[in-house]
Amino acid sequence: MNSLAAKKSISTYDVYQHAIEQFSHYDNERYHYLDSAATSQKPDCVIDAVTQGYRHFCAPVHRASYPLGEAASSAYETARARVAQFINAPTSQLIFTKSCTEAINQVTLGWAKSIIKPQQKIWLTRMEHNANYLPWHQLCQTTGAELKIIEMDEDGCLLLEQEEIWHESTFLIALTHCSNVLGGENPIQELCDKARAQGIYTLIDAAQSVSHLPLDVDKLACDFLAFSAHKMYGPEGIGALYIDVKRMAEMSPLLMGGGIVESVDEQHIVLREAPYCFEAGSPNLSGALGFAAAADFLQGLPAAAVSQYVGELGRQFRQALAQQGNVTLMPIAGGGEHSSVLSFTVDGVHPHDVAQVAADNGVAIRTGNHCSHLLLNHLKVGALNRLSLGVYNRREDIEPLIKSIKLATEIFT
Ligand code: PMP
Repeated sequence: MNSLAAKKSISTYDVYQHAIEQFSHYDNERYHYLDSAATSQKPDCVIDAVTQGYRHFCAPVHRASYPLGEAASSAYETARARVAQFINAPTSQLIFTKSCTEAINQVTLGWAKSIIKPQQKIWLTRMEHNANYLPWHQLCQTTGAELKIIEMDEDGCLLLEQEEIWHESTFLIALTHCSNVLGGENPIQELCDKARAQGIYTLIDAAQSVSHLPLDVDKLACDFLAFSAHKMYGPEGIGALYIDVKRMAEMSPLLMGGGIVESVDEQHIVLREAPYCFEAGSPNLSGALGFAAAADFLQGLPAAAVSQYVGELGRQFRQALAQQGNVTLMPIAGGGEHSSVLSFTVDGVHPHDVAQVAADNGVAIRTGNHCSHLLLNHLKVGALNRLSLGVYNRREDIEPLIKSIKLATEIFT
């Protein structure tokens, strides 16, 4: 793949042109996929990497000394190194998980549960996906710790100045980098800097940002960062957790099973060193290879240009939606103007009906609560329509959506 990142000067449209060539199965004349926040389409290099895993490396990882087994183990570890490098993490501090959800549960059950004390506080935002809400809710129920919510203003900006957040009773702040409903970007660098200075732990849910915002865990200095491959053009069934080296020493495996021990007898088990002790069971080799290929794909497109491209396109969608007299737009998280995710409602038309008419016209948008009950309760809506963009989307996707909204309005009002 020739890298766009290597070019000196690029326009944002170059991002689309360079990317679209790599989605050879995606027919953007007939289909308008506006659901990348749920899962993205996969470029050819990712599909090839997954199939190559099965064709050329089909053997157990870390379990066989014959050549094919060694090749599989080595390919898996190379994939780990590539994904770790993508977020500027040391290879040994990145563990593969099933998903972002599992990564967060590894933190709550494998780390926080054994060290948090009753009455200590966990702060989350109101815009968390259930993946970063329910595990903390369960933790607080079982440990006597207290769950607290960081509020936001009507523009979608987090109210981070509340003194209580920065009180010594705060154990950890866990928040999403970009909301899966409001899009935008939360100020994670400032938050992590302040938290570290005060001895407060941080977990960043990067599920929605990893596809288009640069992530550098060394600079960020968070304690944990979780993401999934399938939202960054990689395969389903694999995610990753970055763990700060000190936290790693305090952590226990979420899952017990094969591949994580040095020795076992009836009284004792001796775990292998990290990261291997956190990956019980047969590893997902093809998933890891696809994950690494997705990281390569994104590194070939400069992150700043990708975020500018999808952000600008998001602004054009927003303008087009705002021109419809009957569309109500939700704010953008962080209060910015650019976002690759936009949520809206159409007056008098149920979001499910809007999505159905759109589907009938080749436009894939989502409807429902987007696993964000806290936020939807706050916004006082039962369901929202959501569009979300990937590098294969373009201006030509706007008109079919607007047409669908007009048609749904005609039919249902
Ligand atoms: N966090 C956010 C912000 C998400 O949008 C999602 C998925 N929609 C998740 C976490 C969970 O990701 P996964 O389902 O891949 O575990």
